[in-house]
Amino acid sequence: MFLVDSHCHLDSLDYQTLHTSVDDVVEKARARDVKFMLAVATTLPGYRAMADLIGPRPEVAFSCGVHPLNIEEGYDFEELRILAADSRVVAMGETGLDYFYQKEDFQLKLQQDSFRHHIRVGRELNKPVIVHTRDARQDTLDILREEQAGECGGVLHCFTEDKNTAKVLLDLGFYISFSGIVTFRNAEQLREAARYVPMDRLLIETDSPYLTPVPHRGKENQPSYVRDVAEYLAVVKGVSLDTLAVATTENFSRLFHIDSARLA
Ligand SMILES: [Zn+2]
Ligand SMILES: [Zn+2]
Repeated sequence: MFLVDSHCHLDSLDYQTLHTSVDDVVEKARARDVKFMLAVATTLPGYRAMADLIGPRPEVAFSCGVHPLNIEEGYDFEELRILAADSRVVAMGETGLDYFYQKEDFQLKLQQDSFRHHIRVGRELNKPVIVHTRDARQDTLDILREEQAGECGGVLHCFTEDKNTAKVLLDLGFYISFSGIVTFRNAEQLREAARYVPMDRLLIETDSPYLTPVPHRGKENQPSYVRDVAEYLAVVKGVSLDTLAVATTENFSRLFHIDSARLA
């Protein structure tokens, strides 16, 4: 069996007390059949540091981008394009809109401009976008449409929206990724959306070190726990764990243009 963690912040795990090294994290993941992970950047200096920390590894790919809540420090649009062109980078992001923590007009404008820029670079480089959205449903969908994001494709990561939003995203050609939130007791609406998303558009992720799934609540999240998301989601979808693993791995390979030989 082969599971992929399609979204983790490998540079932000606790390497002081929980893990001795990236090797340690990879080993713990492998012990639970999690054999590949996508390490997601949230700033450009962060991307550089993360690429140095992790180094070239067969089981880790990278995204490059600036998280909507990290825009205010400013960044060089051209630098993003240059860094994202690296062959180790398979996706743009995470990008998107987060109106939960930022509500000032100038902040929203900065987020929107940056989101549009990530999509444009994604289309230019043929690399899909990893989209984060919170309290910004309509603007997110509008920008994806206006910028023709379907051309490079992408994923709505850590999906917490409803079934109708899932439908619009699927119509745009997007994939939908579920995190540990789907295992939370009060997440029935989310499980309904998960039942709705077809198997060939489904991804799984940890978003570690955040959003630890049941039954590890209270501990820091890590890529090996994507297995718990997968086991739970398999029950929600009424399929075997193997079926879910095969589908989500194939989807990952297709979306991010990663040779399936690397995922076998
Ligand atoms: Zn996010
Ligand atoms: Zn994230």
